[in-house]
Amino acid sequence: MLVILDNSLTALTPTNQAEISGLESVLAASYNGEHFLTTDFKTVRSLLSLPLSLRGKAALQRLRGNISRHGHLPYAESFVIRIVKEGEYVRVSARTWTLPISIFKNKTFPQSVVLGENLLDARAYISAASQARAKNRLTESCRALPDAGGGSQTAIKLENYLNHGNGLCFCITDGDYVAPVGSKSPVTAQCVSLTNTGAWPSFATDFDGRSIENIIPLAQIEDSYAPLPIPENFHTYKKIAETDPETIKYIDAKSGLKYCNLQKMKPTSPKHSFWSQKIVKHGLQARFDQFSHSPPTCKDENCTGCTLIPGIGANTLKRVVEYFEKNTSQKLAQRVSLGSQWVGLGINIFHWTMADKPELT
Ligand SMILES: [Zn+2]
Repeated sequence: MLVILDNSLTALTPTNQAEISGLESVLAASYNGEHFLTTDFKTVRSLLSLPLSLRGKAALQRLRGNISRHGHLPYAESFVIRIVKEGEYVRVSARTWTLPISIFKNKTFPQSVVLGENLLDARAYISAASQARAKNRLTESCRALPDAGGGSQTAIKLENYLNHGNGLCFCITDGDYVAPVGSKSPVTAQCVSLTNTGAWPSFATDFDGRSIENIIPLAQIEDSYAPLPIPENFHTYKKIAETDPETIKYIDAKSGLKYCNLQKMKPTSPKHSFWSQKIVKHGLQARFDQFSHSPPTCKDENCTGCTLIPGIGANTLKRVVEYFEKNTSQKLAQRVSLGSQWVGLGINIFHWTMADKPELT
C-alpha cells in the first residue's frame, strides 16, 4: 500500500522509544519490499537525523533519492495509510486512513493480504494485480500474501485481521449473481460491513458475475489449455461469449446451463425470466421443449444429460492459475482489455499491494 510519512513526524523526539520503534517498523516495510513509502524532502531530512538502525537509515536514504520521482503520487485509485505523530486510528475515507506511529511500537508493520474464497482465487487475484499494473504501464512493484476464506469463513478471517491488526486485508467474495438482478450475497454484505465498522484498514468487494471463472478473460482461459488441444465445450462456450457476454457472466461456468437447475428456479422469478430469454436467444428452445416432454433423470449435481449450454469444467481455475504463474505479467496483459472488469479489479488490488522493491542484503 502507499504509506505516507506525514510532516508531523518532523516533531518526533529522538528519546521517545515508542515513536522510534514505530518508525523503524514502517521503514522496515519499505526496506523489505512490502509497502511503498513516500513523504516530502523536509520530513525525510528531519527523520534522517534520528537515532535509527542501519536498515532504517538505508530505507530513508533510498526514499530521499526517489522522492523527486513521486510527484504523480497518490494515484486517483490509491489506497493510502498516512502515518502521523499523534492521534487515533481514523478512517478518513473508503481509501484513506491515518495511524499514529506509536501503534507500530515493537510490532512488525502488517503485510498486504489478498483474501479470496480459496487459495486459487487469491492467487488469481494477485496475478490480476500484476496484469493490471503491466496493462496500465505502472512502474511500482506490488506484493501480497494470498489467503483463503470460503463462505462464512471469509468474514471470520477478515474479522480476525481487523481485530489483531496482523494484516492489511483486501477481501474479494464471489458475486454469486445468477442473473443481472439480485442483491449482494450475505457474505459480501457482512464483509463490507466489517470493513466499514472495524478499526483497522481493510477493503471488501465482490464483482459483477457468478464466480471468478466468469470474469477471467476468455482469451486467457483459451491460452491456458496449451499445449493440449482446446476442447469442443470451450469452443461452444466462447461462441456464446462473442455474441452475448452477459450469459457468460452469470452462467455456472464449471457445469454450464442445465435444464434441471432451471427447473429449481421459481417460474415467476427474474432469474428464471432472464434464462428463459437466453434459451430463445441461443436457439435452445427445441432442446428445452424436448426435456420438458421427457425430463432427464438427474441423480446429482454432476448430471450431464440435461445440459443446454456446456460449462468449461471444474479444473479450469487450477489450470489458469498455473498458466498465470508461469508467464510474465507483460505477456498476460496482452490478452486483457483496459476497460474489462478483470483489469478494474486488478488495478484496485495493485493499489492495495503497491510496494517498494526489496533492498538486497
Ligand atoms: Zn441435470
